[in-house]
Amino acid sequence: MKTETWPSIIPGLYLVPGLNRGRFPYSHSFFVDGDTTALLDAGCGPAALDEVRRRRPPDQVIVSHAHVDHCSGLWRLAAAPIVSPVQHADDFWRLPAVARRFMGPGEMADLWLATIGRLLDARDAAPSAHYADGRVFDFGGVRLQAIHAPGHMDDHYVFFEPTHGLALLFDIDLTSFGPWYGHEESDIDVFLASIEKVRALRPAIVASSHKGVVREEIDEHLRRFAHVIDRREHRLLELLSAPRTIDELVDAGLIYGRATSLDPLLRHGEQSMIEKHLRRLERNERIRREGERWSRIGAS
Ligand SMILES: [Zn+2]
Repeated sequence: MKTETWPSIIPGLYLVPGLNRGRFPYSHSFFVDGDTTALLDAGCGPAALDEVRRRRPPDQVIVSHAHVDHCSGLWRLAAAPIVSPVQHADDFWRLPAVARRFMGPGEMADLWLATIGRLLDARDAAPSAHYADGRVFDFGGVRLQAIHAPGHMDDHYVFFEPTHGLALLFDIDLTSFGPWYGHEESDIDVFLASIEKVRALRPAIVASSHKGVVREEIDEHLRRFAHVIDRREHRLLELLSAPRTIDELVDAGLIYGRATSLDPLLRHGEQSMIEKHLRRLERNERIRREGERWSRIGAS
């Protein structure tokens, strides 16, 4: 067994650190070493995946959701069967279809493909099986239950190990950046409900794809992460004390800061997330639209 230099999270389950400390376009993977072995996600980077293959080729690769920073290296482990979420199973993981799913048809999808091609040697990979909410993966020694946790994306899952109370949170990632919901299919309220679902598990240990392992003040971490949504909304309401167009709101860079003006893909994500906040605030009768401009209702 050659797993000893990966940080152990619980007996038989290891963190495989991602390149660039697990920051985009990479993420941490997890390795399960039971009677059978599994790698959870394959976006940790070529060197880390080579090391996985060298130390212990996994019997299967299980994917938490279809984002590129979790899937880019699937093709490097082509010998192992890939198990992907049942949601969007038909598109998994063919790059042109993934690009259309994320960016819609047209030039943004092409730009996404070109950018991914520049950043990563990502290639298509075909799953051989799918999993759904409630599925228990029994590796012999380690059991993980798949819990559907959408909002970030339709096909986003967390995995729960009940013996030690470990929750693998993937992109409920607990970073200070906060929740990401920049696709058409993403949803702020659904994301918040998924965070509440995780809190209700009362996990004793959590690990995420971009922050790694957290063993203390977990509930506080989860609440702080969710609170970023309130902070963004609060700043948006401040901006809307004067009527503003969507372009003006996107230019303000509430989410990505100055990078919003420099990178069209980030701008697309910023706009998508701001639009979700606007729809939510309008639904809650906090803002109104007149012509092309949004503004705040009342003083609070
Ligand atoms: Zn993601």
